[in-house]
Amino acid sequence: MRFGPKLRGGIDLGGTKIEAIVVDAASSVLGQSRHPTPRDGGPDGVAAAMATALAEAATAAGTTTSALAGVGVGSPGLIDPQTGVVSNAKNLPDWGGDFPMGARLADAIGTRVAVGNDVSVAVLGEYELGAGRGHDSVLGVFWGTGVGGGLILGGEQWHGRGAAGEIGHMVVERGGARCPCGNRGCLEAYAGRAAMEAEARKRVRQGEKTRLFKLMEERERTRLTSGIWERALDHGDEMAEELIDRAVKALGAGIASAVNLLDPEIVILGGGLGVRFGEKLGPEIERRMHKSLFNKVHPPQFEVAALGDLGGAIGAALLVA
Ligand SMILES: [Zn+2]
Repeated sequence: MRFGPKLRGGIDLGGTKIEAIVVDAASSVLGQSRHPTPRDGGPDGVAAAMATALAEAATAAGTTTSALAGVGVGSPGLIDPQTGVVSNAKNLPDWGGDFPMGARLADAIGTRVAVGNDVSVAVLGEYELGAGRGHDSVLGVFWGTGVGGGLILGGEQWHGRGAAGEIGHMVVERGGARCPCGNRGCLEAYAGRAAMEAEARKRVRQGEKTRLFKLMEERERTRLTSGIWERALDHGDEMAEELIDRAVKALGAGIASAVNLLDPEIVILGGGLGVRFGEKLGPEIERRMHKSLFNKVHPPQFEVAALGDLGGAIGAALLVA
C-alpha cells in the first residue's frame, strides 16, 4: 500500500465485458483486469464479477479494494447518481428493473462507489485526459454495439434532463431502417454493431453471400465483433464493405447534424468500432460530415479517442477524483 488512499478504482461495465482498473492521482493505470459480463445470475452476478475484477486490478496495483479512495463505475442504463441505482440496463442480463448497484458493490469491496453513465464518463475521460484536453466544447461519438454520444458545453457536461447526447437516435433517414429503439431511420439503425449484424443476418437469409459468419465461427465468437468486421474488410468481403460504408455515411450525416446544432470545437470518435476503425475510416467519416456541414469554413477538429480501450474505466475513475 505504497500509495495510500490516493489510489482510485474505475470500472467500465459493458454488455460483453467488465474492465476494471486502479489508477494513481495522475490517472496512470497501475493495475487492470478484464472479465466477460456473466450472462447468468442477473444483476447480482454482474456485481459479483465487478467486485472480483476490481480485486484483481487492486492486487496488480499492490493494494486492496478497501484501501482505495473510491471507485467510479460507468454503466449502461438509467443511472441515479445520488443513489447509485441503475435501471433498465437493456444490454445487461435480466436488468429490466432497478438495482442498487452502487450500494451492492460498496458492500462487496469496502469503499465508496460513484456510478455514472458509461458514455458520459468516457467523454469526461477524453475531455480531462485525452483528445478533448484544452477544449471548451466537445461532442463525443461512441460507435460500438449502439451509437452513444456525450456533450461538454462551456466546459461542463451537458445531460439535459438526463437523456441528452443520444446522437445514435438522430434521424438520418425518415421512414428508414428500424432501430433497436423501435423508431425508424436512426443513425444507430445503420451504424450500431447490433443493427449491422441483424442486417447481415437478414441478407444471408435472402441468399446473399458473405464471409462474416464463417469468420465468426473460426474465431469461436457468437456475434460479429469489431475484430471480425475488420477481418472481413481485409478479405475484401463485399457485404462487409457495403454495410460498413452504409454505417460511415450515416455517421457522417448524424455527426454533421449535431455539429450544425451545437458548433463544438472538437468531435471525438470512440467506442469499440470507433477506436478499431478510427485510423482507417475516421478520415472518410470526417469527409462525409464535412459535406453536410452548414459552416464549412470553420469545421470542428475531428479526432479518434486518445485513451483507447481503457478510456471508459479511466473516465469512470474520475467520478471519485
Ligand atoms: Zn433509435
